[in-house]
Amino acid sequence: MPKQPSPYLISKLRNYEEFHKRCGPNSRAYKIAMQKITTLSSKTHHHQHHHNDNVDAAKCKYLVWTPANGLGNRMISIAAAFLFAVLTDRVLLVRFEADMNGLFCEPFHGSTWILPMNSPFWNHENVETYQSIVLAKVDKARNLTLDQLLLPYVLFINLQHTKEDPEIFFHCDHNQEALKKVIVLIVQSDQYFVPSLFMTPSFSHDMNKMFLEKDAVFHHVGRYLFHPSNEAWGQISKFYDAYLAKADERIGLQIRVFRPTFTPQQAVMDLLLSCATSNKILPEVDTRNPAGTTASNVGRNNHTLKAVVVASLYPEYGENLRSMYLKGPTITGEVIRVYQPSHEEKQKFNDNVHNIKALVDMYLLSLCDVLVTSSLSTFGYVAQGFGGLKPWLLYGLVSNETHFPPCLRDLSPEPCYHFPPQRQCNGNPKEHFATSFPHMFECKDYYRGVKLG
Ligand code: GDP
Repeated sequence: MPKQPSPYLISKLRNYEEFHKRCGPNSRAYKIAMQKITTLSSKTHHHQHHHNDNVDAAKCKYLVWTPANGLGNRMISIAAAFLFAVLTDRVLLVRFEADMNGLFCEPFHGSTWILPMNSPFWNHENVETYQSIVLAKVDKARNLTLDQLLLPYVLFINLQHTKEDPEIFFHCDHNQEALKKVIVLIVQSDQYFVPSLFMTPSFSHDMNKMFLEKDAVFHHVGRYLFHPSNEAWGQISKFYDAYLAKADERIGLQIRVFRPTFTPQQAVMDLLLSCATSNKILPEVDTRNPAGTTASNVGRNNHTLKAVVVASLYPEYGENLRSMYLKGPTITGEVIRVYQPSHEEKQKFNDNVHNIKALVDMYLLSLCDVLVTSSLSTFGYVAQGFGGLKPWLLYGLVSNETHFPPCLRDLSPEPCYHFPPQRQCNGNPKEHFATSFPHMFECKDYYRGVKLG
């Protein structure tokens, strides 16, 4: 690893693994906890529906992660959920359906993190939501504390960005205190909400101690949690050995187009080339001398081999770049080889083979020396985080407008938290949280977002 995890982080992880084995699926404690919940739900409904002292008898508590959106979104939010579970002594269980089959190894030795098939928490239709409780409270009393409130023993919390986006005060101690009593907390998120864990006073000490380098949180947690399966690893290592291993330099280009029908491929190509050549990531082709012979070769003894990995849904980007470098030598003499591992054409849902290809692409990008990513893409965030790379962020084209500069150097490999809290715990609005915490910055690809660095 280019960065070392702190001894404190390692000890937290070892403790968590012990705890996961003790309380996770297949353990006695898991059966007892689940039985407890079933008994409580069958005899309740009226006044007993909410938490009471019985519940304290359950020794283990759980955090059930449920997916939203693509693989990048899922991976960054699982990483955040895992840290939240570690901080709050909960067992992390992931609701992986068939589309996540065969992607990752089990991260916790001697146990599983997959929510068991027979668990009632595959479905949360009838589960009370944190949102409804918090918002009702805020509406009624303008009193923002949940701590005297009795929360149910099973609760759903949505940490995704919603259209209205009301503040839910998740980063506040009083609400975290109330959440402690919930036995099974079901969380749905596509966000990297790690910055909000640093903002929560009761978590910040532990977070700071675990992560001495604030730009390497996802780097450590992501690489700890997400070990590619043998299938994925086979594809990654075969590709790496065949095309990347012998190169002097590896360049990763991630081209994510969010609105392909409105964004001409030529505009994206121009943006990419402008970014790559102006920042000396890739050389221009010497069009005056297509054969690459004689005079212009003088002094061109630089035969550095640069291997380019193109990750995109569309084959045209790799093809265009490859044919461009076949037209003639480069002005620097560098030799450029272009490879695109896959081109799925569109984002596919419920398809684990498609997701394995996405993981392979992310991982290959992370093995590069220089990385160019697309603004706002969590797919790129995973690659930069795994690799510990500060990427060049391509300007986020929405149509064929032209902009300068075409890309910006990012300040850290951390994912951006797109929708951080808007209000302080006392209810007062806050301009931008990045200004009041050390190691937190406004994201370069999204003005509302914050990121660690
Ligand atoms: P985001 O939408 O860019 O933030 O990233 P996500 O990973 O959450 O969702 C995009 C999904 O589209 C990915 O998970 C893939 O399924 C697919 N996808 C997008 N770009 C690529 C790519 O370059 N390669 C592959 N293999 N899949 C991609």
